[in-house]
Amino acid sequence: MELKLFDLAAAGHDGTLSDENNTLFVKPTLTKEINFYTNIQTLSQINNNNLLNKETNDEGESIIPLINWIPTFLGCMEEGIIAKDANQKNILEKEAEKLGLNNNTNNNKSIKLPKDKSYTKPLVVLENLLSGYSKPNVLDIKLGSILHDKDASEEKIQRLNTVSNSTTSGPFGLRVCGMKLRKFEHIDYSKLNSSFYTTNYDPIRKCDYISVNKLLGRSQTTLKQVTDTLLFFFENHSAGDQWTAMLLTNFLERINLLIETLENTPIKLISSSVLFIMETDENRITNNSFEDVIIDNDNDVLTYLEECEENGGTVDIDGENYDKESLSQQLSLSKLKLIDFGHAQIVLSNKNTKFEPDHNTLKGLFSLKRSITNIITQLYQE
Ligand code: ADP
Ligand code: MN
Repeated sequence: MELKLFDLAAAGHDGTLSDENNTLFVKPTLTKEINFYTNIQTLSQINNNNLLNKETNDEGESIIPLINWIPTFLGCMEEGIIAKDANQKNILEKEAEKLGLNNNTNNNKSIKLPKDKSYTKPLVVLENLLSGYSKPNVLDIKLGSILHDKDASEEKIQRLNTVSNSTTSGPFGLRVCGMKLRKFEHIDYSKLNSSFYTTNYDPIRKCDYISVNKLLGRSQTTLKQVTDTLLFFFENHSAGDQWTAMLLTNFLERINLLIETLENTPIKLISSSVLFIMETDENRITNNSFEDVIIDNDNDVLTYLEECEENGGTVDIDGENYDKESLSQQLSLSKLKLIDFGHAQIVLSNKNTKFEPDHNTLKGLFSLKRSITNIITQLYQE
């Protein structure tokens, strides 16, 4: 399996990778992030422990477990070349096989990395959240007012506090980190300051893309500015007002559900992001008759699609027969995900400690809820 540079990262460090089929997302990271994913996955598998403080809300509806909001964790590698130990290698190979990646059995043990980069950090291997999408827009919003870990250096604490205090991070607990927008002729991008973005042709999606960098969010101090950026993002398509309206309703519902999850999950995140992903390919949107899911199941659906291909066009799921078309319609058209767990921790409480939700992260989600609610009021109730 050969890895290449991942080209649709909305923000973050350079050096993220993907495979030829664009099914994997591989990121050089800290051991802390790998531990977080491993622990969440392990706890979710053991006794069906979903980490939730309680299973249902006051209305008796199920609260969505955290695992549904984060990318599927497939394994990790070290020093780029060979998976760390037999167990991890197994997970990786099994998953790669499930994803239909290693038809070529003689190279499934070694992963070739691009030659021009040196990878010294461990690599986390995740589902590529954009797999299944044709021409997505992607928006990364960093959550929290406190952006530093307890054990950060004095210099780092000062630097991050300055960023927080001079932007929307401080007062609202959120900041736009970056965007990848499909470029449309009918949209005026000059509204964005020219030092905030570049334009590039994307050879995979066969269209131009606008990359909005972190300076946009660094320049924003009011929630209104974040709200305007969100609206710009949601309207960056040509599928009509119906699509914008659906996106707004669905993302608001997702934010509300994610708030409920975090209010009942014993984790502490620092500097994590919410990733907004939306399809702009009109064919996909109309083929699905504008029908979208609130919580995606894309990783499983894509696995079934692979099976479908191998089985000559159909696959059996729980006694029902599906073809490529009916499966494709189950892929999401938009989704909200929590990402970036380099400083995240599970904080299991015991008899002596009371459960405390992650107020620092929740603050940003409440601001997002206000933002999207404001857009809906502005567009539809005037
Ligand atoms: P960093 O630690 O460098 O900030 P992130 O985990 O935030 O790394 O990832 C950087 C960018 O990569 C994000 O802004 C997002 O656009 C993209 N990204 C992260 N995880 C995935 C994933 N599983 N699938 C697709 N894209 C992802
Ligand atoms: Mn990030």
